Amino acid sequence: MYPSRFSYEAPRTLGEAIQLLHDGGGDAKVLAGGQSLVPLMKLRFAAPTLIVDINNLPGLAYHQADADGALRIGALTRHADLEHSDLLRASQPTMAAAAPLIADPIVRNRGTLVGSLCHADPQGDWASVVLALGGSVIAQGPAGRRSIPMSAFVSGPFENALAYDEVAVEAVIPAARGTRSGGYLKLERRVGDFATVGVAVAVETAGDVVARAGIALTGVGGATINCEEAAAALTGKPLTADTISAAAGLAAQAARPRTDHRGSAEYKRHMVRTFVERILTNPRHAGNGVTAERAA
Ligand SMILES: Cc1cc2nc3c(=O)[nH]c(=O)nc-3n(C[C@H](O)[C@H](O)[C@H](O)COP(=O)(O)OP(=O)(O)OC[C@H]3O[C@@H](n4cnc5c(N)ncnc54)[C@H](O)[C@@H]3O)c2cc1C
Repeated sequence: MYPSRFSYEAPRTLGEAIQLLHDGGGDAKVLAGGQSLVPLMKLRFAAPTLIVDINNLPGLAYHQADADGALRIGALTRHADLEHSDLLRASQPTMAAAAPLIADPIVRNRGTLVGSLCHADPQGDWASVVLALGGSVIAQGPAGRRSIPMSAFVSGPFENALAYDEVAVEAVIPAARGTRSGGYLKLERRVGDFATVGVAVAVETAGDVVARAGIALTGVGGATINCEEAAAALTGKPLTADTISAAAGLAAQAARPRTDHRGSAEYKRHMVRTFVERILTNPRHAGNGVTAERAA
């Protein structure tokens, strides 16, 4: 199917992009990697009258650490940039584990992390990862910049907290309060599929004790699920068989899976528990070798 008729603009400054969105009055859409927007337009699930292509905007293709260790990922950073990033491999085990599991190489070459957050697909992998890491999205609009915590950024399935005339310019992962470890595991029917079940775990340990933990789920509910109780079960405690089992059980309880052609709700809930246990029992640490790991 062909998309419905639309106008196309490719501004060269962020200010111009914001003005175009503002003038579009809610009928305009940002185009980043186009890996979600274009299929939706072809199916006519989305019919914007104006496309604002941000690919010509300078200075948005970066991922870099601040002096304090916070990580900033610009709006034009592609999944593939993150998949091949030495910085992520050295310092962000959960992100490094997830990056090779997004879609397939063709999609990863064009799609962006920030675009994935904006798209707010309950089956999007990055939203869980950024949520587990306590990250946020920086939005810029006519009134200036604001930071939106990831926990408030997704307002529902395929809905985000941006105003119609705001561009998400970057995602920010805060500095770790201790040594980072964690991982991302994804159950998929075939390589390149969206998650049947995805689990992101991010832990920061000071000494033997967990200083901060985040656990978030992909594909097992109407939106990305933040397992706050499961994370709280780890915080302030050492990682032991008992604390891991308690957290895994609470994460499984937080899941809201539905029975469908990819498996029963019971099976998916079981996989959440298994993945949380598996990651926490054998986490990747900041700095260890990272290889793509798809769940069998
Ligand atoms: C075959 C296929 C398989 C896929 N498999 C997976 C998968 O396994 N896991 C997964 O997580 N994803 C998957 N995806 C989705 C993919 O990751 C997309 O790249 C991502 O969801 C959207 O990023 P994008 O840059 O392409 O955004 P676009 O498609 O350009 O935009 C998506 C939406 O976000 C908005 N948007 C984008 N960037 C901004 C911005 N900076 N500011 C404001 N609004 C913005 C757009 O207006 C649009 O509404 C798949 C896609 C395809 C085509």
